[in-house]
Amino acid sequence: MLVYLDHQASTPMSQAALNAMMPYLHASQGNPHSDDHAAGWEAARAIELARGDIARAIGADAHEIVFTSGATEANNIAVLGFVAGRSTKARILVSAIEHKSVLASARAAERAGHEVVVLPVGRDGTLDLDLLQIELTRPTDLVSVGAANNEIGTVQNISEIARIVRKNGALLHTDATQALAFNGVDVDAWGADFVSFSSHKMGGPKGIGALYVSTGARPHLTSLHFGGEQEDGLRPGTVPTFLTVGFAAACRDLPDVSRVAKWREVTNALLNGLKNLGTGVTLNGSSTERHPGNLSVVFDGVEADRLLALLQPRLAASRGSACSSGMPEPSHVLAAIGMSPAAMSSTVRFSTAPQTTYADVEHALVLLRNSLPRTKDN
Ligand code: PMP
Repeated sequence: MLVYLDHQASTPMSQAALNAMMPYLHASQGNPHSDDHAAGWEAARAIELARGDIARAIGADAHEIVFTSGATEANNIAVLGFVAGRSTKARILVSAIEHKSVLASARAAERAGHEVVVLPVGRDGTLDLDLLQIELTRPTDLVSVGAANNEIGTVQNISEIARIVRKNGALLHTDATQALAFNGVDVDAWGADFVSFSSHKMGGPKGIGALYVSTGARPHLTSLHFGGEQEDGLRPGTVPTFLTVGFAAACRDLPDVSRVAKWREVTNALLNGLKNLGTGVTLNGSSTERHPGNLSVVFDGVEADRLLALLQPRLAASRGSACSSGMPEPSHVLAAIGMSPAAMSSTVRFSTAPQTTYADVEHALVLLRNSLPRTKDN
């Protein structure tokens, strides 16, 4: 049996999502953009119902949801779609611990002549709001700060960041890919302009996500793709009905406050267990403002890749983000919070889901207790 503790990379699709998708994988195959027949109307109706459910889950209006292939594309549209239509140079601030799809988009904007400033974060991954304020004294157009970090779990105060950003006349993009899983998103209360999501991080299928575009900020985005007028012209191409309904089903099932509290208790039980394994364990990121399913820890003197290899195929955890796996370079997130190279190479991210049980935690701890001493073998 596999103990799966890599839910921040991708979490299994829920039964509800699968059930909702089945009819649109087979029987109901109309193109949602076919205006001439009932099969097309039925697919379009399913997509609009899905859009409404997703909007409700995040505190948006349905017309503010643009379906994308995932958060990578949503982040690209938010940053590069923002600069695409401009005749003047934009100034963009991004936090140092953004997902690669934000940072690389910002770098692409920089190559096109725009100014990009990377905002440092503190030791626990929290953005320094005084520094943000100082940077905003120079005219700035866009700020991008993620809501919950995928590697170290730190959760930012997006409402406060949005207030500061707005007061200074800039727009705010936030990558909320990881925050949706714990029902931590209210775009209306936040006052953010653009917000990115991905369905496979919260019980929906892979291959779909969304960009929330507030009505007021819509004129600031220009399409990066051409060929159709779907998704308000921002993301042309046939919308995959089955993926939208799966994403919506997962949104209807988001955990409530008490379920999130129980989830956090299970994660904390894992942390306590890790601390009792006999190897020094230090938690990365914020101890209080964190994703309820994230545990990024340093195992003193242990090579993380060795440990993870020894645990195969019985326990799935990761060194950091799946997006950087396969790349030998160290994590830019761990580097940004000032970790030493040794601590970085000893970091393992365990990520639980609301359905993770105490039995899973116990099982993981047994496997770790067996494998840790073997990391020292020659
Ligand atoms: N942003 C964050 C914070 C993420 O964790 C991920 C997935 N690792 C992405 C963006 C990219 O999402 P997708 O897989 O949907 O492209």
